[in-house]
Amino acid sequence: MQQVPAFQKCINPDCAKTYDVGQILSKCPACGNLLDIDYEWDKAPLPKSAKDLGIVPMPSGGMGKISGVWRFAPMVGFAKPEDRVTIGEGHTQLRHSPKVADYVGLNPKNLFLQYEGLNPSGSFKDNGMAGAFTHAKMVGGKVAACASTGNTSASLAAFASASGNMKAIIFIGDGKVAYGKLSQALDYGALTLLVRGDFDDAMARVQEVCTEEGIYLVNSVNPFRLEGQKTIMFRVLEGFDWIVPDWIVVPGGNLGNSSSFGKAFMELHKLGLIDKMPRIAVINAEGAPTFDRLVNGKKLTWNGGHVNDAIIKEYYDGLDSRGERAHTIASAIEINRPVNLKKCLRAIEVTNGVVRTATDQRILDAKARVAQEGLGCEPASAASVAGLKQLIEEGVIDKDARVACILTGHQLKDPHATVAYHSASEADLAAQYGEYGVKTTEFRNSPVAVANDLGEIIDAIRKAGGNDGCGCGCSGCC
Ligand SMILES: *Cc1c(COP(=O)(O)O)cnc(C)c1O
Ligand SMILES: [Zn+2]
Repeated sequence: MQQVPAFQKCINPDCAKTYDVGQILSKCPACGNLLDIDYEWDKAPLPKSAKDLGIVPMPSGGMGKISGVWRFAPMVGFAKPEDRVTIGEGHTQLRHSPKVADYVGLNPKNLFLQYEGLNPSGSFKDNGMAGAFTHAKMVGGKVAACASTGNTSASLAAFASASGNMKAIIFIGDGKVAYGKLSQALDYGALTLLVRGDFDDAMARVQEVCTEEGIYLVNSVNPFRLEGQKTIMFRVLEGFDWIVPDWIVVPGGNLGNSSSFGKAFMELHKLGLIDKMPRIAVINAEGAPTFDRLVNGKKLTWNGGHVNDAIIKEYYDGLDSRGERAHTIASAIEINRPVNLKKCLRAIEVTNGVVRTATDQRILDAKARVAQEGLGCEPASAASVAGLKQLIEEGVIDKDARVACILTGHQLKDPHATVAYHSASEADLAAQYGEYGVKTTEFRNSPVAVANDLGEIIDAIRKAGGNDGCGCGCSGCC
């Protein structure tokens, strides 16, 4: 597994300054814009075709040593092999999903769900953390921190405890975290700060603290994180046998994932390893619609790197003057100031992408339908499927298009939302979720309360259609 000479580079074409990979930077010191990792690929042997990417011999030590990130080393090779950190991330799957296709109105042959809930900490964040943690190790970091709606912190905490030589500090907006995620941070032993405020507040504070205290920041402003997340797309393409699909649909929060996908395709295309670009659809929650409002409402574009900063500033000033805060059940995308905004504008431009919002009602319904395929995801993940349904209804995505939706996190991250959907009474639903505009639970599967009595239990099973009584498991045909 080879290393590729790499450097950091400002995304602003008027600046385009470069920095050594040995530096710890979360923005360009010269102009304040985001940084990319760039490679001198001509100085390293590259595979001749995409099909040869990702094929690595089994390392000694077995499966645990195979990383779904580092096996794509030629595309993410900024670190020496001995510096690469892994906790076995990226053993995920691209699942053919005909039932969900039926729900969204797509040709049943053509929908695939990329299930990133299978990562060790239960979300796609582990792909990125492998990159960031590796860089932290390269530069001798001892303490790493992040602001989080929950999954970044779970991932950081898992990597810190597994590696044993780095401390983790986590900033969470108080009252804003799903229980599954909080439980992971606590159990893995991270110092967990519940900051009075929301994610956007926690994000602002952690950046200040990291600068002040020389702590290594692993949020997605960290360009090494996005390198790791590119490999989600390599695995999707691998699942499609390297035939590029028409659309990739992904939830958008801080817009790191969507940005990294755009970068992955730009690079594969530049190197001649794919011959066409898929289109990327980024789905915001309606309660956290910044990217949609800026792209569709204010017509903000990448514009070859000359982004109109005045439009962004005016939008944020408007949020502040109205006291508007992000508010959605999809807590992982409850973000109104996405730090990777500009990189995602670039991803939209190079892939001819689109941006939409999905309501919490549609997100929860989509989530329940995804589960009927035997795949459990958290609410934010189902924004991809809800967004796909909408884009098909609008006629933007063709019924015969080949589509991959990214399921970003595991169902057990937020069991509260799932149980409430399936079992809350109408009154409870209104009390808990009325503020999110969730009124119905079309795909509910309520638990049935029964007495501790054989006859009553059998009656309840028959009444629910669970068994017709003949005992053979037929549906009443004999
Ligand atoms: C972090 C996260 C997102 C949002 O990803 P961004 O890169 O911040 O846009 C979506 N879903 C889940 C489950 C997440 O953990
Ligand atoms: Zn710059």
